[in-house]
Amino acid sequence: MTDDRPVFRFAPSPNGALHLGHAYSAILNFEMARESGGRFLLRVEDIDTERCSPALERAMLDDLAWLGLSWEERVRRQSEHFADYEKALDALEAEGLVYRAYLSRSEIRRLVEAHETAGTPWPRDPDGAPLYPGSREECGDDDAPYLLRLDMERALAWRGEAPEWIEEGSGPDGQSGPVSADPAAWGDVVLARRDTPTSYNLSVVLDDALQGVTHVVRGRDLFHATSVHVLLQDLLGLPRPRYFHHDLVLAEDGRKLSKSNRDTSLQSLRAAGATPEDIRRMIGL
Ligand code: GLU
Repeated sequence: MTDDRPVFRFAPSPNGALHLGHAYSAILNFEMARESGGRFLLRVEDIDTERCSPALERAMLDDLAWLGLSWEERVRRQSEHFADYEKALDALEAEGLVYRAYLSRSEIRRLVEAHETAGTPWPRDPDGAPLYPGSREECGDDDAPYLLRLDMERALAWRGEAPEWIEEGSGPDGQSGPVSADPAAWGDVVLARRDTPTSYNLSVVLDDALQGVTHVVRGRDLFHATSVHVLLQDLLGLPRPRYFHHDLVLAEDGRKLSKSNRDTSLQSLRAAGATPEDIRRMIGL
């Protein structure tokens, strides 16, 4: 029997305490799964083994259970699946779409500054970081540190036309419905590091496919990254989920919440006596 129930997931990184924004996203996924008779999965995005820890993961799961959420076992923990990401990376490498990038952060800064002092503004990605100024022509010593980057120009030539996705929520400029992706806006994105055979972009795409996720419901801050995700899906022959980018819960000063802001962490709100109902009220759910 095929299971055609929709599949939703919440995919936090245990590199700090969950805050009100995470609560919003987790509850929204949970409720959307429930209302559609779908499944709700939890994925721990812990590829950054230096910043993520089992203690932070335990605290995170405890917060989610306290909110009244329950999810299917087993939880997928990315740090246990590096071999899957490596295989996907090999497939992209075999197509000639990946190269070793050796420029250090300070070399990148210097190159970008040199261009800009000469009067030409250097292109920035949607997060405001300068596009990688190097190329696949660079070489480095065998023991030099490097990152593996997607050769965007080749990837786009391979794909032929701009990929599309269906946006069921909305983007920062109100985009909804069919959206034409603009992966070139990100330049040669990082796919892996020498000592970590993946990156957020690669593992999120692969895991959504491996877990059969049909609906990606997440904060609007990841709207533009979706352009890279749908391109990678096409390069790797993976299915396209539907996307729903939701409002961000903002701090009182209008800024994005961060894991370092203790005031809005679920732990500190719980310690101050808030109930799960208070949390739902605070985030308007
Ligand atoms: N792990 C990401 C984060 O915590 C979310 C990934 C996603 O939902 O696609 O921001």
